Amino acid sequence: MLTNNLGYPRIGSNRELKKACEHYWSGKTNIQQLIQAGKAIRQRNWELQQEAGIDLIPSNDFSFYDQVLDMSLTVGAIPKRYHDVILNKSNAELDLYFAMARGYQKDGLDITAMEMTKWFDTNYHYIVPEFVKDQQFKLFSTKLLDEYNESKRLGIKTKPVIIGPVTYLLLGKEKEAGFERIDLIKNLLPVYLDILKKLDEQHVEWVQFDEPFLSLDLTEKDKAAFKYVYTEIRKAFPRLKILLTTYFEALKDNTALAVSLPVTALHIDLVRVPEQLESVLAAIPGNLTLSLGVVDGRNIWKNDYQKSLVQLENALTKLGTDRLIISPSCSLIHSPCDLSLETNDATLTPEIKQWLAFARQKVDEVVMLKWLLNKEDLDPYILSENIQAHENRLTSSLIHNQAVKQRVESISEKDDRRKHNFAVRKTAQREALGLPLFPTTTIGSFPQTAEVRSWRSKYKKGELTLTEYDALIERETEETIRFQEESGIDVLVHGEFERNDMVEYFGEQLAGFTFTKNGWVQSYGSRCVKPPVIYGDVHRPKAMTVRWSAFSQSLSDKWVKGMLTGPVTILQWSFVRNDQPRSETCTQIALAIRDEVVDLEKAGIKIVQIDEPAIREGLPLRKADWQSYLEWAVKAFRISASGVADETQIHTHMCYSEFNDIIQNIADMDADVITIECSRSQMELLDAFADFKYPNEIGPGVYDIHSPRVPSRNEMVNLLEKAKAVIPVDQLWVNPDCGLKTRHWDETKKALVEMVAAAKVLRESV
Ligand code: GLN
Ligand code: ZN
Repeated sequence: MLTNNLGYPRIGSNRELKKACEHYWSGKTNIQQLIQAGKAIRQRNWELQQEAGIDLIPSNDFSFYDQVLDMSLTVGAIPKRYHDVILNKSNAELDLYFAMARGYQKDGLDITAMEMTKWFDTNYHYIVPEFVKDQQFKLFSTKLLDEYNESKRLGIKTKPVIIGPVTYLLLGKEKEAGFERIDLIKNLLPVYLDILKKLDEQHVEWVQFDEPFLSLDLTEKDKAAFKYVYTEIRKAFPRLKILLTTYFEALKDNTALAVSLPVTALHIDLVRVPEQLESVLAAIPGNLTLSLGVVDGRNIWKNDYQKSLVQLENALTKLGTDRLIISPSCSLIHSPCDLSLETNDATLTPEIKQWLAFARQKVDEVVMLKWLLNKEDLDPYILSENIQAHENRLTSSLIHNQAVKQRVESISEKDDRRKHNFAVRKTAQREALGLPLFPTTTIGSFPQTAEVRSWRSKYKKGELTLTEYDALIERETEETIRFQEESGIDVLVHGEFERNDMVEYFGEQLAGFTFTKNGWVQSYGSRCVKPPVIYGDVHRPKAMTVRWSAFSQSLSDKWVKGMLTGPVTILQWSFVRNDQPRSETCTQIALAIRDEVVDLEKAGIKIVQIDEPAIREGLPLRKADWQSYLEWAVKAFRISASGVADETQIHTHMCYSEFNDIIQNIADMDADVITIECSRSQMELLDAFADFKYPNEIGPGVYDIHSPRVPSRNEMVNLLEKAKAVIPVDQLWVNPDCGLKTRHWDETKKALVEMVAAAKVLRESV
């Protein structure tokens, strides 16, 4: 029986990699220092896994930016536009690599970065491989071999991790018409064989092929590609031990295919879908080993040993010890590094802490499970402590709040419905609000300058009193209100200066949430996030935003829009409890937001925006599961929005997304106004709304807020003309794509003045 790990966090437990990369990028350090920093992290990771007792320790799970980009460099899939970077001899391979990740503006070259997108349903982003019709591959970077040899030199025999060829192709994008990327499999395979040959010469024993696509919806062609490549690899290397991993979903209809592949071991995710153990055990042939992903690689909860042991024993009976591997469910890069670094008892109390495990602890859990399964002579405390922590979680008054549970139980039909339908509300709102055609507004945040952030950090350090801090924020808010009035914006916002982050700000004020000091998880490149932890029943002890909204409204005769984050987005960007369905937690958050919306209305706020940028990214990986998710997600939004009178106008906002396949569900959210990020698509994203004849009001973003560039009045007029051609004028709003938090004041002011002018041009044209 072997213990295995699929991947260990590479950011370093004190975010050493972030610092090393950013120093190198800014020219503060040289490439040798960067390489050394990477080496130190790898060594530490390998050694700690070895000391913990992991048998199959991963290598090549380290990356300076992203493991998919590593793969593109390994197989030489380097888009043409970077060839000049390669030709510049003073550049190292890493410089080319960073140019692909981040773009390149040097030596008279100006090359855009490769596209980035979400890694399955996680918050990790990978660099999308680009393929052309006659795409050629060749072994380019030897990183994988180098890191394997590096570990060998340290006396640790590792298991190289490689993205499987089918998954690698499916992760990419066709950059020209006339071919399907999966057809490139024949071109790609020889490079994999090349790599394996070199590893074989180094006497590698195990190689891990990550093929998460094997647990998603596949076409016949994809399935054939799986059969083809693994048959060929097996033919070429009959003795190589191949661990094929799947995660984030269940094999389901691909079970027969998966167990028929000629590999040594198959890894399945039993945290996400525990039920798949039965069907896989029923189908598994006698020569296949099974790796059971029982320790949650994506969340922060301590493993329930008793529960895992039931699964492991079940498999053991059928397979015997030789054919069983114990693993985390997926790579631990989605977990924070080390719980023992959490020393702030005030936020992460000892009671909460006993329920948690981060990557470092999860490695130990895998080994403990093996010992427990082997009935080795273990300190009995190890099991009893684990049982006790779980019993405590079942009943802890920190978690369980009967009033919240009862309120969720008693939600009725009318609670997720506004009093009247949109047509009635529209008339009521028109009378109450008195807005012009093409009303102008913004999405919420105004520039969070270094100065504003310094106030917050001084306040947290005790260098400013609350009164002093509030006074500074008030001043900044007032200036922002005045600017919006002067520039002629119709619906104002307060600017969100009091917020660090759109989820954390609410989490800090809601019961049932807590925060870590060092629970960083890589989001992309050197960028890390520290998601809040939802550990208990959620409720709102007191109003969260009324103070700032009421203050702002008191400054102006124009309407100031209240600004909230929606329940699905709060859920999606947090670590979520695993002792109840996500839908239940989401409903609790929805009720808390609903109370806030009602309180805002009572305080005289007539327009409230509930941001839901994460609705689409919450979609399940398998299409068959979409409807049930969308049902509870949309319902949660509606619960949050439906406590107010007809004349109170509810807005929502969504960032750049494909709306086509969920447009019915967006309509079901029934927000009075939706603003969307649209400008970079030249209003194309609006077509989904037009084709659907979306009945409510809509504000397609008229300029890109990701760039400091000030858009001209004319280009915004043109975009609005485009919008007007497909959406009736009395439904249209005028706004930027998204919040202005990351912009500077100078460009923000200029851009908004032009935007208001563009709206006026359109008003005059009708
Ligand atoms: N109200 C938020 C802001 O303006 C919305 C951000 C978002 O949707 N990403 O910052
Ligand atoms: Zn946005």
